[in-house]
Amino acid sequence: MSWWFGTALWKRVLGALVLGIGFGALMSQMMGAEAATSLIESYIRPVGDLFIRLIRMLIVPLILTTLVAGVYALGDPKRLGPIGGKTLALYFATTFFANIIGIIFGLLFRPGAGADLGGADAVPVSTEAEGLASRLLSIVPDNPVAALADGDVLAVIFFAVLLGIGILMAGKAGKPVGELFNSASDVVLKVTHMVMEVAPFGVFALVAYTTVSQGLEAFASIGLLILTVYLGLFTHAILVYGGLIKFVLRLPLLNFLRGIVDAQAVAYSTASSSATLPVTITNVVDNLGVKRSVAGSVLPLGATINMDGTSLYLGILALFTAQAFGYELTLTHYFMIAFTAAIASIGAAGIPSAGLFLLAIVLSTFNVPPEQIAIIVGFILPVDRVMDMARTALNVTGDAAVSVAVAKWEGELDEERFRAPADKPMPV
Ligand code: ASP
Repeated sequence: MSWWFGTALWKRVLGALVLGIGFGALMSQMMGAEAATSLIESYIRPVGDLFIRLIRMLIVPLILTTLVAGVYALGDPKRLGPIGGKTLALYFATTFFANIIGIIFGLLFRPGAGADLGGADAVPVSTEAEGLASRLLSIVPDNPVAALADGDVLAVIFFAVLLGIGILMAGKAGKPVGELFNSASDVVLKVTHMVMEVAPFGVFALVAYTTVSQGLEAFASIGLLILTVYLGLFTHAILVYGGLIKFVLRLPLLNFLRGIVDAQAVAYSTASSSATLPVTITNVVDNLGVKRSVAGSVLPLGATINMDGTSLYLGILALFTAQAFGYELTLTHYFMIAFTAAIASIGAAGIPSAGLFLLAIVLSTFNVPPEQIAIIVGFILPVDRVMDMARTALNVTGDAAVSVAVAKWEGELDEERFRAPADKPMPV
């Protein structure tokens, strides 16, 4: 017991991830994939589902309280402008690099050349995107309580920022409300710490289930695509986030990676950056020393609009489609693919497989007919999860990296905490 709690959480979570994959593979070997899947589904997966419910339960209270308390802690509403500006600029810049890397990897590895799409069951997807105006308007909630109840993240962010500004502008009269949110955010963070103790079990259960249920044969036909996606994601993480942390911010990269292992493992096992949000917030606050004012604003926004992994993935899939069906692409096409992949990733919800269903937007740039889109989506869908896990982990890593950069530039980073050795976590 004391060994368990004495071991840093990130080590336990990482161990659980590895053990979960090993356990799933072993069970498949011993009893066959089908029997193992049904056994794990009945007895082990519920632990994973419990964990997902627990963290999802925290999303709305955590965003509301940390964001209001964060704006309040800034002391001056004018400071929100630079924070928002830097956040958006970095989100766009990193997504831009993700696009380039996706297209380069798609061209280098040519994952779609020779792909056999014959066995795919077509999955029709809507090719109509929601209008931009209505999407932007929906950020302003009709009713903030309904937005909270529905877990509408962008609307909650909008309301919380306004509330924080209102508290600051009210001066003395706003102080009690500001303090109330401050203390509420402390309390909700404590609840998140409690829930995080379930993470090792949840991660184990979720990855064990994915390992048995995905079936290795399915991967063989699409192995090159998976490899291309994983290598692309890895390259983006090392070059772009590694470069940002190490060379631009001059901070130790290892501490960054170690500090967000929990969030990466949870993202990897749930394939949902929204569900991972509470873990990402606690990780960057506790382990990386990002002040709540920045974490509370940068991360919820990132979980909704900053998806470098998704953008990179969509670029590779577009090239995969072109190669599989023999489309000749020009430089203008590549440019359009990059642009639409970025837009689609901004619009994608932080939930499993959301990215794949937006492929139609990207494929419209070279007029792929709906029947071919349906075949591609049907071909990828059975194995999308494995790639979704990795791109979600990258999405979350990107949000965390940007929060560190914004915090550092705004003087809201506790560097001593960031640089603290792993085994001596700073008291929270
Ligand atoms: N699952 C991803 C996420 O939650 C979105 C996607 O499907 O690409 O970040």
